[in-house]
Amino acid sequence: MNVAVVGAGAVGVTAAHDLAAAGASVTLYDRDEPGSGSSGRAAGVLYDAYAEDVDAELGARSMERFREFSGTGGFEFHECPYVFLAREGDDEVADAIPRSAARMRAHGRPVDAVAPDELAERFPALRTDDVAAAAVAGNAGWTDPASYVGMMTDRATGAGVELRANEPVAVDPDGPGIEAEDGACTDYDAVLVATGAHTKRVLADADVDVPVKPYRVQALTSSVAYDGPMCYDATAGVYFRPHPTGLLGGDGTVPVESDPAEWDRDADGWFLEDLGDALRTRAGYDQEVERAWAGLCTATPDGDPLLGELREDLYVAAGWQGHGFMRAPATGEEIAAQVLGDSDGVPAFDPGRFSGGEEFEIREGMAVERDGS
Ligand SMILES: Cc1cc2nc3c(=O)[nH]c(=O)nc-3n(C[C@H](O)[C@H](O)[C@H](O)COP(=O)(O)OP(=O)(O)OC[C@H]3O[C@@H](n4cnc5c(N)ncnc54)[C@H](O)[C@@H]3O)c2cc1C
Repeated sequence: MNVAVVGAGAVGVTAAHDLAAAGASVTLYDRDEPGSGSSGRAAGVLYDAYAEDVDAELGARSMERFREFSGTGGFEFHECPYVFLAREGDDEVADAIPRSAARMRAHGRPVDAVAPDELAERFPALRTDDVAAAAVAGNAGWTDPASYVGMMTDRATGAGVELRANEPVAVDPDGPGIEAEDGACTDYDAVLVATGAHTKRVLADADVDVPVKPYRVQALTSSVAYDGPMCYDATAGVYFRPHPTGLLGGDGTVPVESDPAEWDRDADGWFLEDLGDALRTRAGYDQEVERAWAGLCTATPDGDPLLGELREDLYVAAGWQGHGFMRAPATGEEIAAQVLGDSDGVPAFDPGRFSGGEEFEIREGMAVERDGS
């Protein structure tokens, strides 16, 4: 079977590798270099703490694969618990946290609601006097996302994938196949589009309309040492984790549709200030910004990705709502299995649930489900 994978981010390289490892002949195209899209800008926060069964399963499978690959090809998975919490006064989220934790546990995920005094005892680096509710996810860690893409690209080419970097391509509307910039078409048995923020445009050229909107999120690294857990302060809307230079923190969601070809790659002043305030409150931490940046995430109308067949032999894997990197080892594996005919897909993520013309607002990806459902 001849397969074209368009997009060499974390999802595309994983799918390309798994397809080739299963015996397919794979060509992997990227308009730039592997990892040059959102995957190279991600924060690398990894966990399986999801309240929905499908998400929990994919999250768990990803963690398994991250551990399996750790220590190879320059990729390291660093074990680190993930704390999520709400502040006093934020009743809606504070009420939702123990309910969400119970649902995660019901799916076999090791997530425990903890009282603020226990949190203080377990994690002295965190300040807990204003915490109303918290939970700790034990199956979690962090990594440098670019190193995952590098490791997986090497594995993919080692498994026989032909990497065509710096080759922007379009999907042949008469496909299955792809069209190069000079108009030359190449036929394939199947085409997988994993082009992140560019997905709507790439598919529009093939006359397929998908409801995927790019939006900016932001992150920074700071050079002051931090040796606490990973933490998401849901009330402040920020997360942070240990980083080789000290700390990495982020969120800074701008819930406005961005142009994937032209967007502001620099972090906003308000984000640096807000994160600085939250770090001081939450961890008594005074940030010294080393590097700050923005990147694009992708939203869908229901917050779930589009993972599956769009029309005969044309597949899509996109729309991760800020959780695309940590699930890439499993979503890449799943879409590879679908292309090979070895999986019927994930019904909740079937792209056929949308017509493409849906109007919707961009919702922040990391928010704790406020209704706790
Ligand atoms: C600041 C920030 C922090 C984040 N933190 C996290 C986190 O902690 N955990 C997490 O799970 N997620 C995080 N994310 C989200 C994560 O980055 C994405 O969900 C994930 O990287 C998406 O991977 P992808 O492979 O689908 O897309 P991408 O990595 O964007 O890859 C798409 C690729 O397609 C290529 N491409 C586009 N158009 C074409 C074309 N026409 N022809 C050929 N190639 C093309 C691009 O060059 C790109 O390399 C974060 C994102 C940002 C911006």
